[in-house]
Amino acid sequence: MRLILFGPPGAGKGTQASALVDRYGIVHISTGDIFRENVGNETELGLQAKRYMDAGDLVPDELVIAMVSDRLGQDDARDGFLLDGFPRTVAQVEALDDIVAAQGHALDAVIRLIVDDDELVARLLQRAREQGRSDDTREVIANRLANYRAETEPAVTAYRERGILHDVDGEGDVAEVRERVLVAAAQAEDTG
Ligand code: AMP
Repeated sequence: MRLILFGPPGAGKGTQASALVDRYGIVHISTGDIFRENVGNETELGLQAKRYMDAGDLVPDELVIAMVSDRLGQDDARDGFLLDGFPRTVAQVEALDDIVAAQGHALDAVIRLIVDDDELVARLLQRAREQGRSDDTREVIANRLANYRAETEPAVTAYRERGILHDVDGEGDVAEVRERVLVAAAQAEDTG
């Protein structure tokens, strides 16, 4: 299975990813996690990405695409993957299509978590208290949500037109959402 978990910051992508990777035995690739790891290790990529992340802006496409292309070329991603936090722009959607096609495959499904803005802000502020992520301040949260609406949401159109977009209600209990996500993935598997 080649899956994308899509949705705004705070929608629960990271939380729900584990159910999908367990179910399908695929690798979880979170671009946010990879960037945070690079920032923590002070790599060249981390140094380049940090100022965008701290401001709640998207890291430039060329950096993200090169990183994902490299990651998807590794052995553990050959038989399937779950992308979380990528793609986030139209250019990233197109680049991903090229990468996957070059490997002789196609994407199976895009599962989008739908959560109301007020709920997202509440969740992100809660995460700031619990985990102290530097990009979970109120001002940066507002910018990240604005960027999602302006740049990321339009990128989903390509998947809707292809008939592989599955919208899932991301509000309510974590276990309930997990069940909805697994049902959507199973539908994609049947029709794929
Ligand atoms: P996340 O944990 O997915 O919310 O990502 C944290 C931050 O990393 C984002 O606010 C962006 O600055 C950066 N980032 C992660 N994935 C991408 C992407 N696909 N395109 C651009 N920037 C990204």
